[in-house]
Amino acid sequence: MRRLMGLCVFILLTAGSAQAQQKKLKVLISADMEGIGGVSTWEVQADSKGREYEKFRRLMTQEVNAAVGGAAAAGATDVLVVDSHGDAQNIDIELLDKRARLIRAWPRPLSMVQGIDSTFDAVIFVGYHAREGAAEAVLAHTDNGRVVVKLNGVEVPEAGFEGAIVGDFGVPVVFLSGEQTICQEVRELIGPIETVAVKRAIGFYSAEMLPPEDSQRLIREGVRRGIERRAEIRPYRISRPVKLEIRFNDVVIAELVSYLPSVERKSGNTHRVHRARHDGGIEVPHGRPLPEDSGRKMRMKK
Ligand SMILES: [Zn+2]
Repeated sequence: MRRLMGLCVFILLTAGSAQAQQKKLKVLISADMEGIGGVSTWEVQADSKGREYEKFRRLMTQEVNAAVGGAAAAGATDVLVVDSHGDAQNIDIELLDKRARLIRAWPRPLSMVQGIDSTFDAVIFVGYHAREGAAEAVLAHTDNGRVVVKLNGVEVPEAGFEGAIVGDFGVPVVFLSGEQTICQEVRELIGPIETVAVKRAIGFYSAEMLPPEDSQRLIREGVRRGIERRAEIRPYRISRPVKLEIRFNDVVIAELVSYLPSVERKSGNTHRVHRARHDGGIEVPHGRPLPEDSGRKMRMKK
């Protein structure tokens, strides 16, 4: 009996230590569509009314699955996928790798990296694109395609803006896929992370594509390498106080934004944010609501 009790204690102890050894490894995968292999135009592939949209949302899901596979191969125990293109309802939930959870639809406070917190170990960007105004960059734009965003004086692509959000939680971006120009932009901005060019941009619409199987294999391998290298990749932290500057191509949108009390209008189409309320609320001076139509347009993201 005594020996039996001793055996039970031994089994319990070893089970406990095995559990402790299987450390949690949390990975967030944010997916856009313009940088998915084969995508070249909004009209045909990346717009939900496009002729090839159904095919390319499936290919987007497969690239995300390749990233989930790479994360799992690197030991990920928890994978959160954040659909971040258009209306954020592109990834096919039936085809998504069953090891991942999925966040869909807008609005949400942390945008393309919704769900991030300091318990995550690494962030992956799949299908990302270059910033507004970049040359030799497929569908290059920032946010809704009508703004230029500067953080502390530096023009950033969406990967830089979202990278700064996750960096604020102390989490590094370790991988990005898209075309060659965003790969270069993100390495210059964030540092030597893993990148995979699934196409070679020739112009705004034209690009030389890889077969989907090759893109997916490269993403799987790159994500695995990135997560394995996470300890040597520093989170992208920007110095405080943070100066956010946004130049709107649409001067009417710029005027509407200037009604917000925390915003300084530098010129007709450029704003500077001095402080944001901690509760994330928005105050409109004198109780004037934003026109419904403009609000809807401002929430759209490409
Ligand atoms: Zn997009």
